[in-house]
Amino acid sequence: MDFLPGLTGSFAMKAAENPTVEMIEAAYQQRGLPYRYINCEVSPAQLEDAVKGARAMGWVGFNCSIPNKVEVIRYLDGLGESARIIGAVNCVVRRDGQYIGENTDGRGFLASLKEKIDPAGKSMVLLGAGGAARAIAVEAALAGVSRICVVNRDSGRGEGLVALLQEHTAADASLLEWCGDLVVPATTDILVNATSIGLHPDVKARVPVDVSSLRPSMVVADVIPNPPLTRLLRDAEAAGCTTLDGLGMLVNQGVLSIRYWTGTDVDAAVMRRRLQQLFG
Ligand code: NDP
Repeated sequence: MDFLPGLTGSFAMKAAENPTVEMIEAAYQQRGLPYRYINCEVSPAQLEDAVKGARAMGWVGFNCSIPNKVEVIRYLDGLGESARIIGAVNCVVRRDGQYIGENTDGRGFLASLKEKIDPAGKSMVLLGAGGAARAIAVEAALAGVSRICVVNRDSGRGEGLVALLQEHTAADASLLEWCGDLVVPATTDILVNATSIGLHPDVKARVPVDVSSLRPSMVVADVIPNPPLTRLLRDAEAAGCTTLDGLGMLVNQGVLSIRYWTGTDVDAAVMRRRLQQLFG
């Protein structure tokens, strides 16, 4: 039996309570795959030894979460294209005996976005400039989104993401100052909240957006998986927008990771149902 452990950070929940473990195991069981996915709490100080241990034990791969997504790169043998540009790894895959770092976060988001809209040639406003925003921005640009307007509380971090997009992608990237409630430009096709505002338990926190500037032609997406129906998405629904919740991103990054590890396509609906049971 091969193991597909989750190599996670020191703030991860215990295995029995970890939604990702539950989601991946549900997919394995449904397909009868002879793999197990376990959660290991690894502090940054122990990361190198943990990766050595994974090699020694012959793990076929593992996920990495905050705070290890960037640091883990030092201990890998190579990087996939988007992981190299993003500068972060959430999925490590063993190929020909080498550990290669991939980033399935942004691709998972794009997979769920494409169920609602063809991103090619579209205009995106992206709230946030952290790890999730970087992954989404790079994959969106690689998928043909033509304009990406980054909006971030810390303008230096926002400028960094804009520079990254300008250097590595063909997208027209710019920074919009975030002061007060953001008036979303009328030309926007896709609005993405990639900040951590609204994540459980802060479910009442409001993303500073002027909801009267939302138009029915817009797709409004939120990366927050818990709760799936965030305040922003409720406001967007009320404004007649097409909405996309954070479960889609979480499920699809899992589907992509499992395909990398096992070569098998699993049922996204089974994984989504398991998360819905957990998140209510
Ligand atoms: P980071 O800590 O790297 O980035 C957090 C971002 O949120 C920054 O841009 C930060 O702005 C912004 N932010 C936080 N609080 C506020 C606030 N009060 N007002 C304005 N901006 C704020 O985190 P990640 O990018 O890794 O994760 C972001 C969210 O994405 C998390 O909630 C995580 O759960 C979710 N996520 C979901 C995934 C999924 O599969 N659905 C996958 C990965 C992440 P600043 O730079 O100014 O501090």
